[in-house]
Amino acid sequence: MTDNPPPPPHVDPNAVTEVAPGIYVISDRRVPLVPNIGIVLGKEAALVVDTGMGPENGRKVLAAAKRLAGDRKLILTLTHFHPEHGFGAQAFKGEATIIYNAAQRDELTAKGPAYLGMFRSFGPGVAAALEGTELVAPDEVYAGDAHSIDLGGRLVEFSTYGLAHTRGDQVIGVPDAGVVFVGDLAEERIFPIFPWFPPDDADIDADNWARVLGLLEAAKPWIVVPGHGSVGGAEILSAVRGYMLDLGRRVAAEVKTGRNADEIVAELGPKVRAEHPDWEAPEWIDFAIRYFAAKA
Ligand SMILES: [Zn+2]
Repeated sequence: MTDNPPPPPHVDPNAVTEVAPGIYVISDRRVPLVPNIGIVLGKEAALVVDTGMGPENGRKVLAAAKRLAGDRKLILTLTHFHPEHGFGAQAFKGEATIIYNAAQRDELTAKGPAYLGMFRSFGPGVAAALEGTELVAPDEVYAGDAHSIDLGGRLVEFSTYGLAHTRGDQVIGVPDAGVVFVGDLAEERIFPIFPWFPPDDADIDADNWARVLGLLEAAKPWIVVPGHGSVGGAEILSAVRGYMLDLGRRVAAEVKTGRNADEIVAELGPKVRAEHPDWEAPEWIDFAIRYFAAKA
């Protein structure tokens, strides 16, 4: 994906900030393939959102969660199955109750081994982080669109919206604090990750993805924790939604003139890059263009 191998995707458990009372984020520090990780405290239980990639990162996140949670019981969930978000879950097995939505569990089963192989090819730092990774099943699965858990004086809401960035994206909301963890449905000043790898993985629905971002924005969250990038407000959601709607329209218009995906990438890619000079990971522009070209 990039010309240079990415740096080691190490979670830094000291990079933790309290974004609202009892709600902590271990920052990704804008390191590629490190996600923002959430720890939400109630009176009786603590919820961990995402693990980082590989067993060592998972162990670090578990230790950080235990430091914050004290003797509260631990629950782990994931925003989606992608390796940097969930392939540290084995450290939590037996230490926390692991809860996914059914689509995410199924997607992990279907694609987990192939993604493990793909990510290992990204470079030695990523391969080292994934050393010893075992894909583990959740302890509980919920069907349907919504699930809520009482952490003790604090409700957390798990919401599932169908195919978007992946088949099993899940948003975690903490209504009393107006906080949402949105996973890779939104990155902050990072080009949206379109995992468009046909024929191996072509599970993206940008229409639904944009619809979900609109719904989340309409709920007026105070604090948005993106999958990657800095924590902010609802403007993170509108920036991603605006990018996707605009790019989709432009690619569709190019397809109508008879251009193929390669030509559109060559024509539009540099323009889109120049329009967002302060956004990172421009390699994702071409994946998005090819997705929209295939769907047009
Ligand atoms: Zn992702």
